[in-house]
Amino acid sequence: MDMKFFDRAQLFACMLAAAPFAASAQTIYPLDRAEILAGSHFDFKVEFPDTVKGEDASVTINGRPAADVLNAPTEFLVHEEGQAYNALWLRNASITRADKYVVEASGGGQTAKVTWEVFETPGERRAKNVILFIGDGLSVAHRTAARILSKGITEGHYGGELAIDDMPHMALISTAGTDSIVTDSANSMSAYTTGHKSCVNALGVYCARNKNTLAHPHVETLTSLVKRKLGLAVGVVTNTEIEDATPAGMVAHTRRRSDYSDIVRMFAEQQPDVIMGGGTPWFLPKSANGSRRDDEVDYIEKFKGLGYTYVSQNTDMMAAGADASTRKLLGLFNNGNIDGALDRRLLKKGTVSRYQDQPDLVDQVKVSLDILSKKSEGFVLMVESGRIDKYSHSLDWERAVYDTIMLDNAVKAAKDWAGERNDTLIIVVPDHTHPVSIIGTVDDNRPGERLRDKIGTYNDAGFPNYPAADADGYPGKIDVSRRLAFTFGAFPDHCMTGKPYLAGENKPAIPGPDGKTQIANEEYCAPGSARMQGNLPITANSGVHSGDDGILTAMGPGSEGFHGHLENTKVFRIIAQALGLGK
Ligand SMILES: [Zn+2]
Repeated sequence: MDMKFFDRAQLFACMLAAAPFAASAQTIYPLDRAEILAGSHFDFKVEFPDTVKGEDASVTINGRPAADVLNAPTEFLVHEEGQAYNALWLRNASITRADKYVVEASGGGQTAKVTWEVFETPGERRAKNVILFIGDGLSVAHRTAARILSKGITEGHYGGELAIDDMPHMALISTAGTDSIVTDSANSMSAYTTGHKSCVNALGVYCARNKNTLAHPHVETLTSLVKRKLGLAVGVVTNTEIEDATPAGMVAHTRRRSDYSDIVRMFAEQQPDVIMGGGTPWFLPKSANGSRRDDEVDYIEKFKGLGYTYVSQNTDMMAAGADASTRKLLGLFNNGNIDGALDRRLLKKGTVSRYQDQPDLVDQVKVSLDILSKKSEGFVLMVESGRIDKYSHSLDWERAVYDTIMLDNAVKAAKDWAGERNDTLIIVVPDHTHPVSIIGTVDDNRPGERLRDKIGTYNDAGFPNYPAADADGYPGKIDVSRRLAFTFGAFPDHCMTGKPYLAGENKPAIPGPDGKTQIANEEYCAPGSARMQGNLPITANSGVHSGDDGILTAMGPGSEGFHGHLENTKVFRIIAQALGLGK
């Protein structure tokens, strides 16, 4: 998808979110109803009106001076960053005792009050390892379509179960952030890796009034916690650019997810033992050919100096995994995202001709497990199938569903590895959903010229006629005569073909004559396609996320905590409980 638009849309969302700020009262971070892991590190901040002087500002926690409770020194900044407010900070704070904490910040005749819950993790550590699979944007229709294509369906019965479904525990996960009912991959991943909700575009921070995107109040990540408290190994594996929001959520602290140069630096600071994805240009020094960094640091050399084996080809990745001496691995396989399963396996489009030896997520997982399991203390591995989301933005459901099947295969590999060990918690969860649905079939043999003539609903839909899947669960042909009618609930102006995009990823809308408003891409508007008037703002060139709940499935020690409906922050809490992180 067009990242340029994405950034603009997110910027717009931020502006909307920032608008209702009440300049007259102080704001306390962490926000009201924060759940804080006992012993975790976080920045405490209060923003006062600039009429409140330091000596007039009073902050108490359960009636005691904040500095006594938070074990951190107090700073008071007048006109922070030249802005019209004063800020009180206690950086790198922590609270060790579980309890309810009432925080009151007074000054200028006004008092703001928030309540936090600090939680411990009672009982023994139950999981040696945690494998967290993120299906980016994974929604119910993706799962159902993957099951249909991969397992087949006749007379209403599926030919088998997906590995992501065949797990004993399940929960509905709601994903809203502090600023919006609909989230993005940054703050939604942060909720899983920090236990704190945040706002659109933010990673590992609360969204305060700072102009400097790196200066917002930090909350500690899972990577930092498990390394600091338990000495675990950590893996961050994706098929998107490694600096993208979901993998970045494992290490980053920034208000702006597009701070890619800084995010690579944060990877080098946190040093997850396995780092794999695309996005090479942000590792190259600014003066190097193809670099997108804003400084001259050569991060590939830096990681090598830190003891990492560096690979850029699948063959070398497999060799590094088989090498008993490999302890740390950096794999960067594409300047952009690694091509999806449909392109790599079947259509050979995208950047497949340029990158002929890219890994599959399944092999990335197997290699990661080989390396991380050498650590006797255990490990946390995050694996993202990230293009389910990106292909859903471009209204290209076949590509999204092939990458859902890839996610399923990757989960199966992890389940096979975990086997009877009973020491590994495996979680599969989306970070957010897309508004997608299966409404029937598109049958080329139905009479009529228009796409809507070809659509069958209810008994007219019958079943699609994809060929039986290969051993890896992928049908070998996608342009069959009776296909799934897979619909998107939110879209720009575009022409819907009802056919798979064999020539390359769908690009539904393109800039109009004014360069700003988006119009249908006429490439797809041949007779027989349906011209759709967009139902999104005129500047949108792709689909958007939905606020619908996502489905989490889980197995292994601690997984019984997942049931019913849970806020996304509870995923962090259940991981922390399984690992005994809050003691
Ligand atoms: Zn997205």
